Amino acid sequence: MKMTEWRADRNRHSLARLTRALPQAFPAPVLAHALRRPFIPPTPRLAIDGYWRTHPLRADRLARALAARSGTPAGWAWRLETEAASFRSPPAPYRDSRFALGPGHCCVCGQPVYRLGWHCDLWGRGPNPNAGWHACCVIAWRLWNAPSDFTQILKRRQSRRCAQTGARLWKTAEVDHRMPLFQVWREHREASWPVLLGFWGAANLQVINRDVHVAKCAEEARYRVHSPVSQGSAAPGGE
Ligand SMILES: [Zn+2]
Repeated sequence: MKMTEWRADRNRHSLARLTRALPQAFPAPVLAHALRRPFIPPTPRLAIDGYWRTHPLRADRLARALAARSGTPAGWAWRLETEAASFRSPPAPYRDSRFALGPGHCCVCGQPVYRLGWHCDLWGRGPNPNAGWHACCVIAWRLWNAPSDFTQILKRRQSRRCAQTGARLWKTAEVDHRMPLFQVWREHREASWPVLLGFWGAANLQVINRDVHVAKCAEEARYRVHSPVSQGSAAPGGE
């Protein structure tokens, strides 16, 4: 069997499975995306996960909008309480057992999780008590923690031009936080939690050429040495 025949055959089976399992209400853009894939996802859940994987910037915006709806939990503040804690990790109050909202709530944004990891209740069934993550928040969390995994998408957003110099981006170009995270920790840590998340989001991410990045890091290192040191700024790690 030729590759194309094999794929067509596989897609026929996947489409049949997907159609059988598809709930009556299903987000139209997700279905359209699934049907355009070279390999059609065989289940509704895989269709949703694949949709957010392809649209991490959309996932980032949505996750932060959901976080804004939850707001900062009363009594929570961004602190680095353990040795392992780092200002590089996005603050996540709802992952902390003291503020966790329990089953059926997303540990990233704090909002209810519905069927198939979706963020609104298209089915009138209420939250899914077995779920702890939105499908969109899984991808947003990955973007916030490992933005380098999304270099290609971020490059495309900049039309493959260096965000600092406008020159063509090289293969070795790197993802950088416009405002470095140590500076966020030093100067903005009292900001409300949804605002803080914005510093991990796409608006604070840029792709720049390696030489430009090296120069920017050197400048930031000088800033760290010469700017006033405040509480917690002795946290480990460099930008
Ligand atoms: Zn969420």
